[in-house]
This record gives sequence, C-alpha cells and structure tokens, in this order.
Amino acid sequence: MALFEADDFGFGTTWRSTKLIHGGLRYLEHGDVRLVFESLRERAWLLRAMRHLVRPQRFVLPRLPWTRRPAWQLRAGLAMYDLLARDRAVPGHRNLSRESTLELAPWLPGETSGGFTFFDARCLAPERLALELALAARGHGAVIANHSPVRRIVEREWQVEAVEVEHGSERFTVPARTVINAAGPWVDDVNAHADKPAPGLLDMTRGTHIVVETVEPVGKEAVFSTARSDGRVIFAVPQDGLLLIGTTDLRWEGEPGAIRPTAEEAGYLVEEAQALLPGLGIDRDSVRYAYAGLRPLQKLKEGPETAMTRRHVITDHGQQGLARGQYSVAGGKLSTFRPIARELAERLGAGPRLEQEPGTGGNREWFEALKESGLPLATREHLRRYGLAVEPVLAGGEQVICAHSGAIAGEVVHAARTEAAVTLADVLMRRTGVAWASCRGLCCHREAARALAPLLDWSAEREAQEVRSYEVAVDYHLPGMDSLALAGAAHASA
Ligand SMILES: Cc1cc2nc3c(=O)[nH]c(=O)nc-3n(C[C@H](O)[C@H](O)[C@H](O)COP(=O)(O)OP(=O)(O)OC[C@H]3O[C@@H](n4cnc5c(N)ncnc54)[C@H](O)[C@@H]3O)c2cc1C
Repeated sequence: MALFEADDFGFGTTWRSTKLIHGGLRYLEHGDVRLVFESLRERAWLLRAMRHLVRPQRFVLPRLPWTRRPAWQLRAGLAMYDLLARDRAVPGHRNLSRESTLELAPWLPGETSGGFTFFDARCLAPERLALELALAARGHGAVIANHSPVRRIVEREWQVEAVEVEHGSERFTVPARTVINAAGPWVDDVNAHADKPAPGLLDMTRGTHIVVETVEPVGKEAVFSTARSDGRVIFAVPQDGLLLIGTTDLRWEGEPGAIRPTAEEAGYLVEEAQALLPGLGIDRDSVRYAYAGLRPLQKLKEGPETAMTRRHVITDHGQQGLARGQYSVAGGKLSTFRPIARELAERLGAGPRLEQEPGTGGNREWFEALKESGLPLATREHLRRYGLAVEPVLAGGEQVICAHSGAIAGEVVHAARTEAAVTLADVLMRRTGVAWASCRGLCCHREAARALAPLLDWSAEREAQEVRSYEVAVDYHLPGMDSLALAGAAHASA
C-alpha cells in the first residue's frame, strides 16, 4: 500500500478548517439527521481515543436581536442534538438567563436576551491528525511519501494498472490495481490525469477565517451565533490565547491551489466580530492573520452554498463505465474521516481491521511525562498534541524556541527524524503548529532552519532558500491585514 501526497500531509483543506470535531448543529436545519448522528458518534470516539488532539469545547449560543431562529426552535434543535449524541461524551445543553449568558461571555452585546450552552469538540491540530494517520499507515507497512504528486493514472483495458508519481526531478511508475483518489479539492484535477478522465465530481465553497489577538483575555468559551449582516453561521473559538473567527461560505470555481483570503472577507469577519463580541474591542489591528480553505463538496445542481451537503460520496469509476480499480472520494468532513475510510475499506474487503485500530492518544502515560517535565504551563499545553510521542519530543531538547506558541527544540528534531518533514514549512506549519501563533513562526524560523540543516542534510544555500520559502508561504497562506490590503489594491488596479 502506498500514500502519495503532492505537498505535505494535511496541507490542503485539513490544515485550513475551523478545527471543530462536531456533529454539525446547523445541519439539523437541512434535515441531515444521519450525518449529524454519524458525526456525533465520531466525536465521542475521537474524544476518547485521540484525547491528546481532541478536546471538549463549550459553546455559548447567545440570543441576539438578529438571531435567525426563535428560542423554542433553538431549544428543540439543541435537545435533538443531545439526543443524537447518545453516548454522552460531553454534557448536554443548558438554557441560560441573560445574566448567566453575560457572566459566561461578558464581551457579548448588551442586547443579549439570554442564550444556551452546548458542547462540541475542538481538534488542536487537524494537520497532526492527518499526519498521525499517515504515520500509522507507515507503521502497518504502507509507503508514505509527501512532496510526491500523482501525475498520471495509467489504465489498460479498462483496468487501473499503475500511477506515475513525481518526486523531485524524477518520475516513477508504481504498479497499482486499486487507486483511491482522496485529493480533497483536487479530486477532479487528479481524475483529469487518468487515461480515461472522469466527469467533475466536486463543487467547492471557500471559507475564510481571521485569527485575532485581543487586549482582554478571550477565556475558554467559544461562541456560536448568526452573522448580523447576512444571517450566516459564525463561530468564535479560542485557540491558544488567540480567537479564531469564521467563516465565509462562497462558491469557488478557480484552481484549488490559488485559494487565499481576501481583504473583503477579512473585513466582513472583523465587522461581524465587532457586532458579536463588542467587549473584546476587535478591530483590523487585532487581526494577526487570515486563512482560507476550500470545502470539497459533492456536486450540486443548484441552491445556496450553505445548503450544499457535507455528506461524502464514493465513486467507483468501474461502475461509471470508466476504469475498474479507481475510486474517488468527494465531500465529507474532518470529523467523519473514519466512516469514509470504513466504507472504502469495506468495498475493498478490509473493514474489520480498521474497526480494531486503536487511537493513539488513548493512554495517559504521555500526560504524566509532561507533568514531570517541569516545563512552563504554556509549553506543556502546547506539547499535549504529541500524545504518545511526547517522550521522544522531550528527548530532542527542552529549550523553548518560540515564546508565542511554547514550542521547544525537540519538536523540530522529532519532525525531521520521525515525522517525515521535508521542508521548513512542513515543520513550522504542519508539525509544531508554530505558524498558528501570533508570530506565525517568524520569530524562530531562522533558528529552526539552522537546527534542521544538519538533520536534513541541507547546504547553507538550501537553508537560506527554506527561510525565504517559509516567509513567502506565510505571506500567502496566513497573510496579515496589510498584505491583504496590498493584494486587494494590486487586484483592483490590474
Ligand atoms: C473553511 C473550512 C472549515 C472547515 N471546518 C471544518 C470543521 O470545523 N470540522 C470538520 O469536521 N470539517 C471541517 N471542514 C471540512 C474538512 O476540513 C474537510 O472535509 C477535510 O479536511 C478534507 O480532507 P481531505 O483529506 O479530503 O482534503 P485535503 O485536506 O484538502 O487533502 C487533499 C490533499 O491532496 C493533495 N493532492 C492534491 N493533488 C494531488 C496529487 N496530484 N497527488 C497527490 N496528492 C495530491 C493535496 O496536497 C492535499 O493535501 C472545513 C472546511 C473548510 C474549507
């Protein structure tokens, strides 16, 4: 078995999501009960088995003058949400008076007339979840290769025969009787490289977030509400002392690789944050960066973006009159990766083994090791995401290299030696998570590159090039408001 990834594990949409492991309260509006039920079951599993990466998250749902639904409907929806989450991995919802709502989230508007709390879960680092799955596959004997795009799916007599993969300046032919195209927003692109290209399977919507740093501490409560200007769902979720606010949901017809947040989207989110959280004093200067991702969704003929289902569909190309042995996955959510994998595995006759697979964060030894480390609290919190790998990470060096995230030197060493990191961006964006801090990793990227050079056999020239590439990647994928304004001005004058 082999897994080929064009960039880095988790590089695509996974890296740019809202990071929630959720049933999808709002999907109840569209009657998607099966999806909500399935997602809630997965939420419970992830909270249990991947507790180093997935934590319960309490949400406050305030009742505001612009809340779309009347209180009784919200209450009924939340009661149903509790009912569907049968195994109670988290507490059920609560009704709140105006006073208790404002006590929990004092930065909400004075017009708040009451509200609710309910629980969902948050994934500390979805990109690490993807990485852990890839590493687990490697542990079972799979070959995994990042920075290795599939360039062609070779077929002979209506049967898949091989894939052609690019790695550096070389191209390899890898024999394969079965090919699963799980390239997220790039599914149609990859299918276009098949000898018999398949018709388009995807529709895409873009979703932008901003990450803000506030003067007042953001606390632990997340907020789930409706946007004042257009009634869209809006989240504000604490993330390591910062606040993640999102998201937009607009159709996207362009190249998946060209996705970048825009100044208008960031401006819209700032205005909505000001309306929803006036007590936090958020303005454009609070924005540390923005990011945008693409939802790869099942193709829909018509209807609003928000109604596009998040359910997945697996296409067996052989059944469509195309080559046998090729499958494509469209739609789905981060939260429901297991049911997608299970369905595929069952089709390929490998279901039961997957069921038995334990999660990697289930035991608590790593937590004890962290407690005994004597490291500052912020660093211990940051290091939780490594789960069972905490000990080797600590062994690589406990010196804090980024005061904003709490990251330590051992993480860089571990990323290079054990976690298949190839570039500086792999290490800072998708292994250590340093890029998500307010500094975006720009306080320590040179130091990290210096540490990586002997481990990855980089020349001085390569090291300098990695530093430059990282700066470009940060500006592209995690731009600040100034950079967005510049891009907007350039676009307007073009
Ligand atoms: C704004 C936003 C918010 C979201 N929030 C949530 C949320 O809170 N909770 C939730 O459950 N879900 C959420 N989702 C949905 C979720 O993030 C996605 O469904 C999920 O991450 C998709 O994962 P994937 O592996 O299919 O795609 P991706 O993560 O995009 O991975 C596809 C990979 O394929 C690679 N690739 C491309 N071309 C090739 C090639 N030729 N050869 C090899 N590899 C290739 C890419 O580099 C990429 O890394 C959100 C999505 C968006 C856009």
